[in-house]
Amino acid sequence: MAEPVSDLQPLRHSLHQSPELSGQEHHTAATIAAVLSTYGPDELLTGIAGHGVMAIFQGHQPGPHILLRCELDALPIRETNRFDYCSVHPGVAHKCGHDGHMTILLEVARRLQQQPLVAGRVQLLFQPAEETGLGAVAVCRDEQYLQHQPEHVFALHNMPGYPLGSVIVRPGTMCCASRGVIIRLSGKTAHAGQPETGIAPTAAVISLLQLLPLLAQPFADQELAMITVVGARLGDKTFGNTPGQAEIYLTLRSEHDATLATLEEQVRLRTAAVCAEQSLQHEFSYEDYFPATVNHPAGVEQVRAAAAQCQAELIPMPAPMRWSEDFGYYTQQVSGALFGLGAGEDHADLHNPDYDFPDQLINIGADLFLRIVQQLQAPH
Ligand SMILES: [Zn+2]
Ligand SMILES: [Zn+2]
Repeated sequence: MAEPVSDLQPLRHSLHQSPELSGQEHHTAATIAAVLSTYGPDELLTGIAGHGVMAIFQGHQPGPHILLRCELDALPIRETNRFDYCSVHPGVAHKCGHDGHMTILLEVARRLQQQPLVAGRVQLLFQPAEETGLGAVAVCRDEQYLQHQPEHVFALHNMPGYPLGSVIVRPGTMCCASRGVIIRLSGKTAHAGQPETGIAPTAAVISLLQLLPLLAQPFADQELAMITVVGARLGDKTFGNTPGQAEIYLTLRSEHDATLATLEEQVRLRTAAVCAEQSLQHEFSYEDYFPATVNHPAGVEQVRAAAAQCQAELIPMPAPMRWSEDFGYYTQQVSGALFGLGAGEDHADLHNPDYDFPDQLINIGADLFLRIVQQLQAPH
């Protein structure tokens, strides 16, 4: 049954038009707060962990405190779409559908105004800086959040490659843990005519680029585990010198947090061994850490029951998603689940330059969230 597209579709398009990068979501947050205030929340909090916004809807009777989360940030990607609501900020675009996720929560707010909550509390959190992995961890330490800690947390992410409106979920790891690793190698530059007087990291780079990805293989039988080379840099375009410096960039990825730590250790040991052979110095730094997003079985049951009630197709999920999500910080502390919402089998993929959020999902996502809220308020 085709669902009518939400009245908030124009708002989704205007959010799409004005994307902001992680941690810089100033105007997006102001827009969200202004729209939310028209839906009469009992409390409206701003400035959570930077630009985060939270609307609180309170029932008159006691009941569960449920947090629904969406994300404020866009990506440093140049949009190639040609429609009339294209990004007006060069090189920045909503290519993960966070404009759509925000609109789903605004639709939830709109319906909570029309049909006020009887029991418990619903907290709609518009979280900053998801794409860099810095947002959720900062929210979990924020004083305003800590004063309103929920008992249940839920979020959804649209998923291209699955039937439109289908629900994809699993207990345990839903999205992988990952971490960016930067390896800096230092030797000694020399005249390009006398390379033997320097210490070039060239051979070490070649060897490490081949060896390091293989370190994940022993783990890959039991779980999803990968080491991916994402970049490398050796010397400069100066034809008089041999290189004295190099950098290697890796992304480590695994189903379990403990495996990620082991992969890191293996990378450190192997790099140290290669550098010792070549008389090179080395150092490591780390960026973009995401813990595994681990779904609680009870949260998954709520999602599955809501999908059945909303007649959404439930797609089994034998393995976790390879991508990472910072929602795992919430489920480390509070029971809940993140679920996928199918964006269409032939839909452009997340982070592709031609991606756009399917507006049909605004009502479907709001239906599912509100169904979860109802189930938790009136358990059978
Ligand atoms: Zn993304
Ligand atoms: Zn995303």
